[in-house]
Amino acid sequence: MKTLIYFLACIILVSCNKNTKDTSSIGKQKAETTIENVDSSTIKTIIDTHAHIQLPGQELSLNPSTPASADELKSQMEAAGVSKCGIMSMVPKGNLAVTRQHNDYILKLAKENSEFFPICSVHPLDGKEALKEIERVAKLGAKAIKIHPFYQGFELTDPNVNEVLATAGKFGLTVIFDSISASDGGATGKFVDLALANPNTKIVLAHMRGTQFHETLLFAVFAKGPFYKNNVYFDLSAIADLYIDSPRQEELMWTMREIGIDQFFFASDFPVFDLKPARETMDRYGFTQEELQKMYYENAIKVFGLE
Ligand SMILES: [Zn+2]
Repeated sequence: MKTLIYFLACIILVSCNKNTKDTSSIGKQKAETTIENVDSSTIKTIIDTHAHIQLPGQELSLNPSTPASADELKSQMEAAGVSKCGIMSMVPKGNLAVTRQHNDYILKLAKENSEFFPICSVHPLDGKEALKEIERVAKLGAKAIKIHPFYQGFELTDPNVNEVLATAGKFGLTVIFDSISASDGGATGKFVDLALANPNTKIVLAHMRGTQFHETLLFAVFAKGPFYKNNVYFDLSAIADLYIDSPRQEELMWTMREIGIDQFFFASDFPVFDLKPARETMDRYGFTQEELQKMYYENAIKVFGLE
């Protein structure tokens, strides 16, 4: 059921964006005046930090019109000029055999295809078993752990989530959250608490909290204090597409610059979004060449420890 709701949410997100593009002439005018003369084709390496691959035994793709296969992803990478892509699993609760099978599948694909890097998953409510799995996949070369409060059904304040972050940090793994958490009004503050409690763990908030993106300014406030280690990053999948050509495009860019462009990555969320339009959207936002270089490449290299 949750898979279905998540899928519907993704479709609504895509259709909302289409409506915005068709009707917002004010937004379009604004976008035309802010685009700078950038040429991202001179950026040699483009990294997409967020793609889903259909896992063994999974029936429902996140997008019925696009097969989430490795071959489809590779062909989209080529068309979009993307040279490296993070592929991820998302695992159910209470079935460690399936968790290990999904993670092994992602690790194997990444080993066989140098253009992929592996992002594994655990279910925080699996407790100690989840922590053991983090250690296992870290030793097998995983670069990050993906967890999803809504899809996997856990609260950010559950002590097990803190344990996942602490263990991932201990083994040098970044933790990626789906950060939309639409039904959790206090999610931004809870992410702040988790970041403060785990200063040695890099945390990525995928989708930059979606329609609550303005709240992420809180991280710019915390960055002024010595106790916050600036260990929270954001991927721009879905949100870049949602706000391009909208009246809030400039606000999104301003918020990102206040937080610091070093904290952001380009990402598609394949197969929910195709890679080529995702990259075209990034190119015409109005970021400078230097900013694009950081978001397309430099930041991801540092945060995920890529070569
Ligand atoms: Zn995703």
